Formats: sequence, C-alpha cells, structure tokens
Amino acid sequence: ESKGAAKDPGSEPTLGMDPFADTLRRLREAFSAGRTRPAEFRAAQLRGLGRFLQEHKQLLQEALAQDLHKAAFETDISELIMCQNEVDLALKNLPTWMKDEPVAKNLLTQMGSAFIRKEPFGLALIISPWNYPVNLTLVPLVGALAAGNCVVLKPSEISKSTEKVLAEVLPQYLDQSCFAVVLGGPQETGRLLEHKFDYIFFTGSPRVGRIIMSAAAKHLTPVTLELGGKNPCYVDDDCDPQTVANCVTWFRYFNTGQTCVAPDYVLCSPDTQERLLPTLQSAITHFYGEDPRSSPSLGRIINQKHFQRLRGLLGCGRVAIGGQSDESERYIAPTVLVDVEETEPVMQEEISGPILPFVNVRSLDEAIDFINRREKPLALYAFSNNKQVVNQILDRTSSGSFGGNEGFIYPTLTSLPLGGVGNSGMGRYHGKFSFDTFSHHRACLLSHPGLEKLNEIRYPPYTNSKEQL
Ligand code: NAD
Repeated sequence: ESKGAAKDPGSEPTLGMDPFADTLRRLREAFSAGRTRPAEFRAAQLRGLGRFLQEHKQLLQEALAQDLHKAAFETDISELIMCQNEVDLALKNLPTWMKDEPVAKNLLTQMGSAFIRKEPFGLALIISPWNYPVNLTLVPLVGALAAGNCVVLKPSEISKSTEKVLAEVLPQYLDQSCFAVVLGGPQETGRLLEHKFDYIFFTGSPRVGRIIMSAAAKHLTPVTLELGGKNPCYVDDDCDPQTVANCVTWFRYFNTGQTCVAPDYVLCSPDTQERLLPTLQSAITHFYGEDPRSSPSLGRIINQKHFQRLRGLLGCGRVAIGGQSDESERYIAPTVLVDVEETEPVMQEEISGPILPFVNVRSLDEAIDFINRREKPLALYAFSNNKQVVNQILDRTSSGSFGGNEGFIYPTLTSLPLGGVGNSGMGRYHGKFSFDTFSHHRACLLSHPGLEKLNEIRYPPYTNSKEQL
C-alpha cells in the first residue's frame, strides 16, 4: 500500500512529488463552489455515514478484533453505537443548529438585525489515533460534515485493519469531491501539514499535539487538540469496596487499558488499598476468569513497541495482582501495582495499558495537592459515599472531565462536551459541541439603509450637544 496516497484513483504519488496536492485542490474547489453548504447536502453525507456504519458493522468489528483483539461488545458500545448516535442526533438537529442565532441589541442597533451565523470553516483535517480508531475518526467527522466543511481524514497507520476499511470502504458512502481519506505515518502527516487547512482537529498524544499546533501556527489555522495524560482516581476511606472494584476494573481494563479517559492510577490511603485489593482480584476473576489470557473479553496490546514499553513498567512498585505477560501474543494480564513511588517511570507517562498503580496518600488534602502538582488531566475520578468529599475534589482541582462514583461512561452522553484542559488539550466536541467546533461563529449586524438619518448622532463633529446625549 502506498503511504501518503490519497484514496483517489489516478492520484498515486510519484516519488518527490507532493502526494496530497491534487486531492486538496479538488476539495478546495468543491468548497469554493458552495457544494457542502446546503442543509440537504450535509444531511445526505450524514445519512451516507450512517449507512456505512450499518452495512459494515461486521467488517468494522473484524477490523478492530484484528487490530486490538477487541471484543465485539466493546466495539459496539465504545465505537459503533456512539458514532451512530452522533449521526442520528446531527440529522435530527441539523436544521436548528444551522439557524442564525439572534442576539440582544442596544439602542443604536435597535432597528437592525443582530445574529450569529454558523458558517463552515472550509477544508478541515481530522487526524486520529489507534486506540478507538473508528470512534475518534468518525465522531469528529459527523461534526465537520454537519457544519458544512470539506474534510480530509488521516486515520492512524498503527491500527492497520481499521485504517484499510476507512480508506477503502467509507469513501463509497460520501461525496468524493468534498471528502478524502489520506494515509501515512509521522513523515507523511508532516508533509500533509505543510498545506494550509482551515481547521485541524487532532486526537493523540501531547507530544504530537505540539507538532500539530506548530504546523497549524504557520498558517494561523485554528485547532482542537484532544490529548491525553495521567487520569487520577481518588478512592476515599468511606467507600463501598465492591462498587469501586467493579467500576475501576471495568474502566481500567476495557480495551486492555488503552483508553484515553481511563483512570491511570489510584490515590488512596494504605488502609483502603488493603481493603480494595481482594475485591479488585475478585472483580478481575469475575470479569476475565481464572486465566485472563484465554478470556474473549480481554484484548491485546496494539503493537510490539507499546508491549515492550508496558512490560518495562511492570517492574515499578510491587505486583499485587497479575503481572504476567507473553510477547508472542502481546498479552499483558490485568495488573495492579502497589507501593508505587511518585518518581517511578509508571508515574511519569500515560500508561495506556492494563496496569493500575496505587499511590498512597494520607488525607484528602494530600490527594488534592498531588493532583494539583501535576499537569491537568483529561479525566479525574473520585469515589466516596460522602458527597462532600466528591465535591471537594471537584471544586479544588481542574480536569477535562470529572466522574464522581462513575467511570468513563460519560462520553456516551452527547450532551456533555469531551475535551481536555492544559496539557490534556483544548477545545471540545460531541453532539452540538462538535457542530459548533467545526463552525466559524460569524458576528452579523444588518442595518436598515433607510435609517441613515439616525446614524448622524455618531459621526463627527462631536459637538457639545452630542456629548450630552
Ligand atoms: P499519536 O500522537 O502518536 O498519534 C496520533 C496521530 O498523529 C496518528 O494519526 C499519527 O499518524 C499522527 N502522528 C504521529 N506522529 C506524528 C508526527 N510526528 N507528525 C504528525 N503526525 C503524527 O497518538 P497515538 O499513540 O495514536 O494515540 C495515543 C494517544 O492519544 C494517547 O496520548 C491518548 O491519551 C491520546 N488519546 C486522546 C483521546 C482524547 O479524546 N483526548 C482519545 C484517544 C487517545
């Protein structure tokens, strides 16, 4: 497969030539001609996307099973259903979202009409990662199409099977004069980013986020950066260990821990740690059996590089649960590490794997200090039977999103924005937030030409009588 190729027949790249130029020119021409602006065109694209999801459900499940060994149930709830819900919501609300939004007026503009027009930016680029390769490519696409943009998708080259389906099958369901999938890794994406886009929506690591933002800065292109980081999970002494264990086990080991909003580490007292360990062990056994390796519900690590990285982290602290690994399958058992020090490698980087370190704190204040000393996370979780404890964490910290006695299920709510803050990103999407993200909010004031007499009050000369008004 030729890297960097836009999936456009007849535009295979020649060495040294710009492989993207023809595709981008075609999309720009379509946008300039106003092709993507009519509501009916946008709706047709969304319906096409919906058909793609329905007709190729099995193909997508198979691709995700090949890439991540993802169970079909996990694929359905975290990828396909979420995309379909976004398509349905956008189709239902498109006419309302597209409407000009009237705003308040002052005395001087009373006779005119003041409103916000949501207009498409133009050519949008969406770059996505490998861990939820359908969701994180198509959910932003819904927003970009609904808002009337032409779109270039650059899926991750690491989730190869899904990349192939997106490149070869998806375009058949969309108008190819306005939409393209391009392929490539860091080098090709670097070349792609030399081009001017009108909006860049990136999901991935903070490291690459910086590269994207510098490339965007050259053209003053606005960006949304959906990044990652280490998500703390505070567990209070006043908690129900079984509930916490079920919830934490599910959302730490879902997709084999390769989830940007998963809890990355637990903060709790040494006593609570001791109470939680047996319940975590029983939840893991209940979910994945005595031998998690043979469980159809547990996936595998995406590639050798990440497997080696994760295996290196197993040496931190002390293994309390799990710890087994098998390189030939890229298998890592659901693992809990205890007695972990803040300075150890597992506490320096986002884990993105089935490893859960425990860091001990002696009080709520110490936990809050710990959280606030570090970069602002994408998600923050607090478990307590005491509402005040949950509220204290909420009030005294900052994060992209917050879950109180709740796991990562909140991204399924299209009414809540998904996005980071600080090192975990900027901007937000999902539901109407996606439409707004991909729309320029144009300030419009239309005055009546017949009322020019009234305007004289603002023109020079600024006589005393005008000042007294
Ligand atoms: P990544 O940053 O390595 O890659 C993301 C995308 O950027 C891929 O399409 C890749 O091809 C491209 N890319 C990689 N290097 C590049 C370079 N030098 N120049 C230009 N483009 C480049 O991320 P990943 O490993 O695919 O995904 C894991 C990261 O994504 C984690 O940090 C995770 O937290 C984050 N993530 C965030 C969210 C969110 O919603 N905020 C969701 C999922 C994953």
